[in-house]
Amino acid sequence: MKMNKSKRHIFLFLLLVLAVASFANDKPGTKAAPSPVYFTSDISGQGVLKVFEKIRSNVKGQAAVKTHFGEEGNQNYLKPELVEPLVKALNATLVETNVLYSGPRQKTESHIKLAKEHGFDFAPIDILDSEDDKAYACSTGCYTRVITGSHILRYQTIVMLTHFKGHGLAGFGGAIKNVAMGLAARAGKLAMHANYVPGYDTTKCIRCGLCAKQCPAGAITLNPVRIDPRKCIGCGQCQQVCPAKVFETDKSRVSPELFNKRLVEYAKVLADSNHLLYVNVLVNISPDCDCAGRARKPFVNDIGILASTDIVAIEQASLDLVNKAHKCKDAFLKEGGRSGNSQIDYAEKLGMGTRKYRLVNLDGR
Ligand code: SF4
Ligand code: SF4
Repeated sequence: MKMNKSKRHIFLFLLLVLAVASFANDKPGTKAAPSPVYFTSDISGQGVLKVFEKIRSNVKGQAAVKTHFGEEGNQNYLKPELVEPLVKALNATLVETNVLYSGPRQKTESHIKLAKEHGFDFAPIDILDSEDDKAYACSTGCYTRVITGSHILRYQTIVMLTHFKGHGLAGFGGAIKNVAMGLAARAGKLAMHANYVPGYDTTKCIRCGLCAKQCPAGAITLNPVRIDPRKCIGCGQCQQVCPAKVFETDKSRVSPELFNKRLVEYAKVLADSNHLLYVNVLVNISPDCDCAGRARKPFVNDIGILASTDIVAIEQASLDLVNKAHKCKDAFLKEGGRSGNSQIDYAEKLGMGTRKYRLVNLDGR
C-alpha cells in the first residue's frame, strides 16, 4: 500500500507518539503503569547478573557498587561470591562509608582490612568519607542535614546491592536504609540517630548479659545495667535482645517512626543528587541487621534477588515476598517487634517511586 507524503508524516508522527507513551509507561512511578521489578530465585552471582541485565542500560559513566562488607562476627551479610560478578561486569569500585560505633568498620584502614578478610578482595575499595564530607541541601523538610563522603563525586552510577533483612529500629533494612545510612558520613549517621537513647528499668534485669554483648557501640555496662549516652548510637538492638524488657522507648525521644522518616528524607536527597540503581537480595532474613556482631537466625527460607530502577517498588516487592514466605501481613513486626512499612509509605508520598509494581519473574528464561 502506497502512502502520499503527508499521510506518511502523520503515520510517522503517530508512531513517535506511541513510542513516547510506551517509554513513559516504563518510567518508575508513572501513574500509567506499575514499575517493573525483575526477580530470580537463582541466588548466585549469576542470578544477580541476570536481574541486573534488565536495568543495565541505565548505567552511565564510572560505576560503583555499594554493599555492606559485614560486621566482625556477623554471619548474614552478602557473601563476596554474590557481589563479585556484578562488580567485574561493570568494572566497578566497591564503595562503603565508615560507621559510628567502635570496631574495625569505624576507621578506613581497618574497614578495608576487614572487607578483604571477608573476601572482598577482587576490586578496588573506596571508603567514600575517608577524606572529606560532602553536604547536600535538603528541600524535603529534613530533621537532619544530608551529609555523605566526598568520594561520591567520583561515580556517575551507584548500584545499591542490598541485603534485605530486619533492623532493630527501622523494622527492616532494604534499599532505602542502604542509601540513607549506608551512604551517610558519620555526621549524617549521628544526625539520623540523634536523641535516641533507650530508657531502662534496672530492677527488671535478670543479668543475662545479652544487651552488652549485642550493643555495637559498647555503650552498655552491667550490674547494674547502664547506657553511656555519649556512646549510644540509638540502634535499638538492646531493646530487641533483652528477654526481660528492661529497655523501653521513651516517646519523647526519637520514635521508630521518626527515625524512618529521617531515613527516607536522607535517602531522597541522596537519590535525587546521585544516579542510583537497586538490587535487593532476599537471603538470611533475620530480625537483625548486618551491623549486629552475631545476628539472630533467619525466620524464613531464602527467597531470591530483585532489581529495579524504582526504590519504592523494589522495597514493596521485597517486603511482599518476605510476608508471603512468612504467611503473615507484617513479618518484621512479628519477628523483630517493629514494622518498617512507614518507610515505604513515606517514600512514595515524597515522590521517590511507586508501590505499584509488576514482578517480572526471570526463572526459566
Ligand atoms: S540503642 Fe542500645 S544497643 Fe544500640 S547503641 Fe544504644 S545502648 Fe547500644
Ligand atoms: S539483656 Fe536485659 S536482662 Fe539481660 S543483662 Fe541486659 S538488661 Fe539485663
